[in-house]
Amino acid sequence: MKLFAEKILLSTGWHSNQTLTIEDGVITDIASGSVAGAEVAQGPVIPGMVNCHSHAFQRAFAGFSEQGSEGQDSFWTWRNIMYKFLDQLSEQDVQVIAEQLYIEMLTAGYTRVAEFHYLHHNVQGECKNDAAMAKAIFSAAQNSGIGLTLLPVFYQFSGFGAKPPTDGQKRFIHATEDFNQLVEQCFTLSKTYPNTNVGIAPHSLRAVDEQGLHAVVNFVRQLDRKAPIHIHIAEQQQEVNDCLAHYGQRPVQWLHNHVELDKHWCLIHATHINEQERQAIAKTQAVAGICPTTEANLGDGIFPTTEFLQDQGVIAIGSDSHISVNPIEELRWLEYSQRLIRQQRAVLANNEQASVGLNLWTKAALGGAQSTSANVGELAVGKQADLLVLDNTKTALFAKEDKFVIDSLVFASQSNHVQDVMVNGQWQVINQQHPLAKQSAQKFSQLIARLSA
Ligand code: ZN
Repeated sequence: MKLFAEKILLSTGWHSNQTLTIEDGVITDIASGSVAGAEVAQGPVIPGMVNCHSHAFQRAFAGFSEQGSEGQDSFWTWRNIMYKFLDQLSEQDVQVIAEQLYIEMLTAGYTRVAEFHYLHHNVQGECKNDAAMAKAIFSAAQNSGIGLTLLPVFYQFSGFGAKPPTDGQKRFIHATEDFNQLVEQCFTLSKTYPNTNVGIAPHSLRAVDEQGLHAVVNFVRQLDRKAPIHIHIAEQQQEVNDCLAHYGQRPVQWLHNHVELDKHWCLIHATHINEQERQAIAKTQAVAGICPTTEANLGDGIFPTTEFLQDQGVIAIGSDSHISVNPIEELRWLEYSQRLIRQQRAVLANNEQASVGLNLWTKAALGGAQSTSANVGELAVGKQADLLVLDNTKTALFAKEDKFVIDSLVFASQSNHVQDVMVNGQWQVINQQHPLAKQSAQKFSQLIARLSA
């Protein structure tokens, strides 16, 4: 197919009047001018956003954990509510939730998601070795049309020092060999689902030990040298304290000293890091996966984004707990948290790129692509056609110059400005409508009614 755009953000910046040729999901040519028979984009075209961190099932209880108890609530009390909730979910339930979530993601402008998937076993906590939960996620991605990077989570313990898992964690736990077997099954499954790939996610340093970590990393590296490896690393101060008490080192410090970090690693919530740790991550080019709205919602803390970008670090954004499913809100919070700390404006821009919005959209899309080892993140010949068409009637209300388009989108849009969404060369959302939205919402609301009964 051919797509003509009056305004398009290519890897080289904004351009006017360009026609993309898209074959088998890939952009094979970009030429100036229009061509007879080309579809016409009804607004500015920009690259789709990658969501680097999702726990799909958590979408089902977004909004269920906002009732306070006189300042006693924290990440850890939230986690108890989450465990109680997930205890009831069958694989069919997980598919219903993930499908609803992925449709919401697409409609908001995410074209690919890295699913940090740790609900492996059935409701009884039995391991059936049939990858049923992973299949539920693959099917949800296929039905919705979003690109998927599935990251089966390796979870051994409830805390540092090989603390035995709690009852609430019974559905996550694997012995190393069983986990590697699941990973192998997921690699095989991925071949039958288009636009998917597989990596792993050792859950955190509190949930895996050194031996287990090396075993799963070595195993996945034999299957695929570029497989993404994601880990929760320093989300909470308590986690840093526990790591110091157990290993005598801070989490990122320990990880950097014990594994070979590289650009295929993604450190999720590297929130509590010191200067040396920050520079170490940037130097290895591992991605810092930041989830601004979840980190705010859970009271985690603020990642030092300003300094990390000055160190030439690579960033990506994730919606994590799905308290918000909106890349625009994530990027807005990313910048605003830095403004509030520093009492300055336009913090996450630089001499090469004065537009905060454009700088963040570009960096997060490219970093997201890196974090998923996917051929996406920018519009150029040879890249997968994952793109968004913005609503012309809405962008027309903002400043006309191209350099303001993404700033207006990120900082001044009150409603959804994403009109059409293409993934892998196929339209998945047209006129803000996903074809399965209605039927998915119906199944999802029935599920929520059952779970909260
Ligand atoms: Zn997470």
